[in-house]
Amino acid sequence: MASKIALALHGGCGTLPVDELTAAEWAESRDHIADALRAGWDILRRGGSALDAVEATVVILENSPHFNAGHGAALNAAEQHELDSAIMDGATLGAGAVAGAGRIRNPVKAARALLERGDAIMLIGPSADAFAGSAGLEIVDNSYFTTARRIEMLRRMRAHAASGTSASEGEKHGTVGAVALDRAGHLAAATSTGGYTNKPPGRVGDSPLIGIGTYARDGACAVSCTGMGEYFMRNVAGHEIASQMRLAGRSLKEATHTMVFDTIGKQYGIGAGLCAVDGQGHIEVPFNTVGMYRGFVTADGDCHVGTHAELECRGRWDQ
Ligand code: ASP
Repeated sequence: MASKIALALHGGCGTLPVDELTAAEWAESRDHIADALRAGWDILRRGGSALDAVEATVVILENSPHFNAGHGAALNAAEQHELDSAIMDGATLGAGAVAGAGRIRNPVKAARALLERGDAIMLIGPSADAFAGSAGLEIVDNSYFTTARRIEMLRRMRAHAASGTSASEGEKHGTVGAVALDRAGHLAAATSTGGYTNKPPGRVGDSPLIGIGTYARDGACAVSCTGMGEYFMRNVAGHEIASQMRLAGRSLKEATHTMVFDTIGKQYGIGAGLCAVDGQGHIEVPFNTVGMYRGFVTADGDCHVGTHAELECRGRWDQ
């Protein structure tokens, strides 16, 4: 019997307070979230794979300047972009990832190409860039990723560091990710990020690490995380959520909310969020910050998009 289909994404829990951007900028970011959902949903409803759907969804988010991934990614302490991305197939546990990439226009496409090649799960730095070029992917100058907003965030992070003041979540970081359930009942997850603003050169976050920022396993769930990666790494977040479901019988909601609000949120007092889907098409998008860019299409086709507490309904999409 054909499975229900479901799709969810996040654009990072490093969302700025509402008054920092114009209404038009917020509206555009919500439109880009809806565009990304549409790209993934069209693949799922035509019977395409969850893997293709999460890749297509993340590509749209990487191309938008509103999110910290691809064009619009954070700048590190050397005023460079070092991009991390991963993709995972819940059916086969096949995965691909790149870390510290500097020239790949869409890092998630390189992660997917590596998954398909199959002889390594992760490539780093210039080797990741070279691989992407040889795989026929678009190569760009590192400055392609820079936007005025990220230059401003770097300036602010340096000012906070100099004066000892604390930065808001929106100044610090962000990420994009997607999770999907396809008609064959398979799950997949993908994540892409510039990491946190002013990060030390060479720093790798949780996003490209399989089992941490990105994880998918049929019979459990698909997860993509956002928040300061070091804390997700210590708690092996993605795999822990799946294990809580598989081995302890927790629901998707129990496992994901425990991770975001208790394991990460309460223990470390930091901002955290994620998007997740299980094999029945249940979706969770918990976050403990002022906002999290997010969107999802439920197994009934109901589409919702949001940046802060409220969710905007974008109608019932054909399945
Ligand atoms: N998880 C990302 C990282 O640590 C940042 C974020 O999601 O905000 O690289």
